[in-house]
Amino acid sequence: MGRVCVIGSSNLDFTVRVPRLPGAGETVSGGTLVLSPGGKGANQAVAARRLGAEVAFLTLLGTDLMGDRLSTALADAGLPPGPVGRTADAPTGVALIAVDPEGRNQIAVAPGANHRLGPAHVQAHLALIAWAEVVLLQMETPIETVRCALAEARRLGKRTVLNPAPARVLPLPADLLPLVDYLTPNEGEAALLTGVQIRGGDDAEIAAGELVARGVGTAIVTLGAAGAVCRSRAGACRVPAFPVPVVDTVAAGDAFSGALAASLAAGAPVADALLVASAAGGLTCTRPGAVDALPTRAAVAALLERHGRCPAGPW
Ligand code: ADP
Repeated sequence: MGRVCVIGSSNLDFTVRVPRLPGAGETVSGGTLVLSPGGKGANQAVAARRLGAEVAFLTLLGTDLMGDRLSTALADAGLPPGPVGRTADAPTGVALIAVDPEGRNQIAVAPGANHRLGPAHVQAHLALIAWAEVVLLQMETPIETVRCALAEARRLGKRTVLNPAPARVLPLPADLLPLVDYLTPNEGEAALLTGVQIRGGDDAEIAAGELVARGVGTAIVTLGAAGAVCRSRAGACRVPAFPVPVVDTVAAGDAFSGALAASLAAGAPVADALLVASAAGGLTCTRPGAVDALPTRAAVAALLERHGRCPAGPW
């Protein structure tokens, strides 16, 4: 099994299903409150863990009851408690989510402790980067933290995966891109990063080419039900999506990046890791929610086998 170090955000998600999303100033009464772990860091760490990787998840929670609840949930998901820090300086990150019967949602996030996860935390846990084969990052922690982790990973000779999400914190500082081995924007993020309007695979390939020209090793633009395109200096390839019955697409991108990191860490060639990532992303769409929807290794293997695409080598 491969070793992945994920450095990123954790939120406690408070989700209520409502008959319709409220407008400004409106109250809509809904169903039972569901509490679950969330945040891109946590989602991707759990995604990699479910695929069988050993995962160290460096994140920061508050010293409040929400932090207690979240730390138990992360441990239950198989993430070791060591790198999960606590701070009295800010509350645990929280997302308030309303979901309507069509699966559309409205989300308000209070990042809290996630914005206190600083370069000092990365420096204090350099041993985790040294231990890992792949370091996986997103953009829900301060940019200096992402820069520090990428630089240390490069110095230690580790492969890096950066999921440049959520889109609203883009653009990325130009000096970060040469430190990224695999960049995994979705089409909206790729458009924001490059200015290329993306209407399909050909445009996505142009955007990916632009990112490679700016220094990214391999740019992978995910296209939802249309799969993904991948481009590096060695050439370009298309990654198919697997046909699945879609319930909601929440966390598909997180499953994709987490699975890609896990698979690369296990020693899979990029082409195989991309198929695994696509299968994991697709399966996540077949179940509601984020963490609860992330597939197991067995489920991914079954889907790949059904389509005759199971890699012969490690993944
Ligand atoms: P994000 O959630 O970041 O917007 P995407 O929607 O592009 O990311 O999804 C990531 C990956 O998950 C896709 O590249 C694809 O492999 C898989 N995926 C997403 N939506 C579907 C779908 N409707 N059917 C099959 N696979 C999907």
